[in-house]
Amino acid sequence: MKFSSRSQVEALSRFRSEKFLTLSLFLDTDKSRSSKKEILVAAKNLLAEARARLEALDASKEKKASLAADLDKAQELAAGDAGSGSPGLAVYACSGEKFLEVLALPEAPRSRIVFDRNPYIRPLTQILGEYRRLVAFLVDRREAKWYAAATGEIALLDEMKSEVPKMVKGGGEREEARRIERHVEAAVQEHYKKAAQKTFEMFKKNGFNGFVLGCPDNLVSEIEPHLHPYVKERLRGWLRAKPSDSPDVVLKETMALERAIRKSEEEAVIKQFTAELEKGGRACSGLKDSLRALAMGEVQTLIVTKGFSAPGRSCPRCKLLYPEDEIKCPACERKTETVLDVVDEAIEAAMRRDAHIRNVQPPSRLDRYGQIGALLRFKS
Ligand SMILES: [Zn+2]
Repeated sequence: MKFSSRSQVEALSRFRSEKFLTLSLFLDTDKSRSSKKEILVAAKNLLAEARARLEALDASKEKKASLAADLDKAQELAAGDAGSGSPGLAVYACSGEKFLEVLALPEAPRSRIVFDRNPYIRPLTQILGEYRRLVAFLVDRREAKWYAAATGEIALLDEMKSEVPKMVKGGGEREEARRIERHVEAAVQEHYKKAAQKTFEMFKKNGFNGFVLGCPDNLVSEIEPHLHPYVKERLRGWLRAKPSDSPDVVLKETMALERAIRKSEEEAVIKQFTAELEKGGRACSGLKDSLRALAMGEVQTLIVTKGFSAPGRSCPRCKLLYPEDEIKCPACERKTETVLDVVDEAIEAAMRRDAHIRNVQPPSRLDRYGQIGALLRFKS
C-alpha cells in the first residue's frame, strides 16, 4: 500500500501487543542513488545485524520466535521490493498477532530495523512533515482547475469553465471587430477574476502550505495581478502545465518543482550556516559540538546529511547524548550507555525541543563539516 496520509499513521499507532514485540523495518530503496544490487546488499546487512541483535535480546522464547518470523517476512518483502519504483519501504510485522503492514514510501527513509512494543512511526511522521500539501492552480483564458498534490499523489479539487466568446478574425467593420475584441477581453478578465477569487476562498477554507501556478507562458503577466496578496505570498513557483493537461503531467511537474524548491531552501540554510561558522557566529558543526549545543538547548535548526548515522552514548539519568568516547556522563558522572545511532536520537531530541530539522541531500557543503551542524538561537 502507498503511504500517503496521517490516518495510516494513526491506524498503526493503535496497534499494540501485550504478548509480542513488533518489528519495524525501513529501507532506503531509492534507485536514483543506488543500484538494485546495492539495495539488496544493504538490506541483507541490515537484516543480519538485526538477527544478531535478536540473538542477544533478553526476551521470552515466544517473543523471539515471533520476531524471527517477522525478520523472515521482512527479508522476503525487501527482496521482492528492491525492483519496485518507490524510493522507500516500510514493513511492520508482529507474526505472533498475525499483524503485517507494508508501505511504499514516497521518500527514502533512514534504513533501520526497530524491535519495540508497538510500531515505530517516527519516520512516517517525518515524511508527512516534509511533504507539504501543495495546491496546483491551472488556468488559461477560459478554463481553471485546482489540484491538491501531496506525498506523490494528486486529486482534482475543483474546476471551472467560463463562457468566453471566440475571437472572430478578419471580416466585418473595423469598429465592429474592435467591439467584439473588447467584449472577449472583458469576459477573459472576468474569468481570471473569478478563478483568482475562488483560489483565495480555497486558501481561507483549507489553509494549504503553498501553491503553484500553471498557465500558458504568455498569460503569466495577465493572471498575476488578479491574485489576492495573501495568495501571492504563498505562490511558490510556476508550472508549464495547463488546465487541459492530464493529472499525471501536473503531478510530475509539481513534484519536480517541489524538489527544486526544497533544494534551494537547503542551499540557503547551508549558506547561512557556513557564513555563521566562518565569522564565529551562531552556528556549530560536527557531531560533538552539535550534541553539546542540543544538550544546552541552543539549537534552533539541526542540519543533518540524509542517511548520516553514527554510534554514540547516552546518559541513563539525564538522557543527554554524547559521542562514542564519552564513557562517563560529564554532567552526573554516571556510566553512559551505547546508542546505535546517536544522530537519530539527536533528531528526536531536537524535535522534542521544537527545533527545526533540516535534512540535506548529499553531496553538499555540509560534508566538509562532519555531516551535521546546527544554527543556534540568539543568546539572551
Ligand atoms: Zn548524566
